[in-house]
Amino acid sequence: MIHTKQNNRSINKQPCYLCDSLCSGFICQACQIELPKLERRCYRCALPLNATSPQTICGRCIKSPPAFSSTQAVFHYRFPINSLLPAIKQRHELHHLNWLCEALLEELLSKPQAWPDVLIPVPSHAGRLFARGFNPPTLIARFLGKQLGIPVLINQLIKVRRTPHQAALSARQRHTNLAGAFSYKGEPYSHVAIVDDIMTTGATFHEISRVLLECGVQRVDNWVIARTPAER
Ligand SMILES: [Zn+2]
Ligand SMILES: [Zn+2]
Repeated sequence: MIHTKQNNRSINKQPCYLCDSLCSGFICQACQIELPKLERRCYRCALPLNATSPQTICGRCIKSPPAFSSTQAVFHYRFPINSLLPAIKQRHELHHLNWLCEALLEELLSKPQAWPDVLIPVPSHAGRLFARGFNPPTLIARFLGKQLGIPVLINQLIKVRRTPHQAALSARQRHTNLAGAFSYKGEPYSHVAIVDDIMTTGATFHEISRVLLECGVQRVDNWVIARTPAER
């Protein structure tokens, strides 16, 4: 069988994850445009802000400022992001993690900013890590660290206590649930970015930042792929 140029090109194409039309990536161009990008959002916690509001920080962060300084996120945690991220965790569909990481990298590079000294992935408890075999936040941090030339700190921030899944808890319970869950034995860097796939209530990030600041870190930012909408 003779492979023409045309044949080779069609061989490289695969059905789009979302609409099945043939494309060269995992998601076709038309579907990429439709992805739920976070546009105007709170500088501190990345919750969506009203498009017409002149504010850069949301009411919640004004009322009770979190321990972290800022959050950068690319997508709303809505379809299809809310089906892709669990697929990565549960079915190890790592090919999706790559283009999601690229989207986060592009977002980070689109803004002038002071880069952190070090990236710290949100750790899993050893038991959960063992059950799953890998920690997606570590993979995201390694990707970004390599692209940006920033070291990734592994095993210095440790989840010392296994906590019940946050999803089942109220916002208040989440804060109590996390008390004493993390321990840091790294250096007091002046600027750290915490890396994760999703920010849900922000309770985990607040608690980690609190621990890092207590250990002498001066500034903590969050880098995440997706942000869930505020709870009512
Ligand atoms: Zn598509
Ligand atoms: Zn906020």
